Amino acid sequence: MRVTDIRERTVPISRYADPGMPSGNLNTTVVAIVTDVRRDGAPIVGFGFSSFGRFGQSGLIRERFAPRLMAAGDDDLATQSGDNIHPLRAWDCMMQDEKPGGHGERCVAVGTLDMALWDAAAKIAGRPLYRFLGDLVGDGSARRSVPVYAGGGYYFSSDDIDRLTDEVRQFLDHGYTRVKIKIGGRSLADDLERIEAVLSLLPGGDHLAVDAMNCYTPESAIQAAKALAPYSLRWLEDICDPLDFETHARIASAYDPPLAAGEALFSLADARNLIRYGGLRPGRDFLLFDPVHCYGLPEYLRILAMLEGHGWSRAACQPHGGHLFSLHVAAALGLAGSESNPHNFQPFGGFADGTVVEDGTVHPRQAPGIGVETRSSLYKLFRSLLGSN
Ligand code: MG
Repeated sequence: MRVTDIRERTVPISRYADPGMPSGNLNTTVVAIVTDVRRDGAPIVGFGFSSFGRFGQSGLIRERFAPRLMAAGDDDLATQSGDNIHPLRAWDCMMQDEKPGGHGERCVAVGTLDMALWDAAAKIAGRPLYRFLGDLVGDGSARRSVPVYAGGGYYFSSDDIDRLTDEVRQFLDHGYTRVKIKIGGRSLADDLERIEAVLSLLPGGDHLAVDAMNCYTPESAIQAAKALAPYSLRWLEDICDPLDFETHARIASAYDPPLAAGEALFSLADARNLIRYGGLRPGRDFLLFDPVHCYGLPEYLRILAMLEGHGWSRAACQPHGGHLFSLHVAAALGLAGSESNPHNFQPFGGFADGTVVEDGTVHPRQAPGIGVETRSSLYKLFRSLLGSN
């Protein structure tokens, strides 16, 4: 069991449904890990990408982490029987000689390769990732029906309210029952207008989450929390700097409805500090750690174990990144649900072609791996990475 080639490329990505809108030169990295296992005359290849919202990781992948996988021998990567990659062992191999702390964004580089390793291992086993992962590390909580909510609701440069409500109507027409929109980028009065316009389309505040994108200062966070509390929203997300645990705790003590945090914390150590010092409330608040951004699934599993040790349940976890990988992870581990990005961050956002959202839930497909091959626009990108049509 060896890795014979690793291809990587950083590609532009838009956070908007309209890729013509300026997106701050955002990009992400795609990787293909080629194995020496052959099926139907071709090598099995695992695909991964750097989730989205952070920048690409070509440098670290190319210079540091991919060479360690390429240099690994059979015993370093394989299961005991030798017939498959063991992704947890491969992760140890990538992290050899790395020191604790100083996470930076190396965790995103490792998480990108980790996704491709899981995809390859599940393909070698001939299983969809959620079943493969559920069998390997699950405790029987794997399920096929995953609650999803539609993420989007970014600001529009003109006709914002009309276009926002059009977008939400499209989500509802596609079967989503819960949505998330952005706030924090304009005045509080403008944001309340957005919230009220969207609420007029929904059965109640519990169907709308708002994401402040870490925009608020300690003072404006309090003002926003006071103004938003009467709406009893599904959750209020990313209210201040992700590492400002004191402000998190102050908001949590003054704001009754659910909060959500964790999307921009990328390690077990940071996640533990949020739980210790952020004042968040088990049984009420939500945790959005992105398995790709925080060093991949091995670290995400350690974060889940830490949470459970602090009295949290998986019903609080909704991983950031509304894509195929997060859907499989949510299904395998019995998490509360998954984000979906049907319009944004294309071609990575969203699920398999033709996916039906039924009453706010989705079923992962049975294709082996994470199912890149079931999403034609995404598969086309990976085929070009491999130099095939
Ligand atoms: Mg967010």
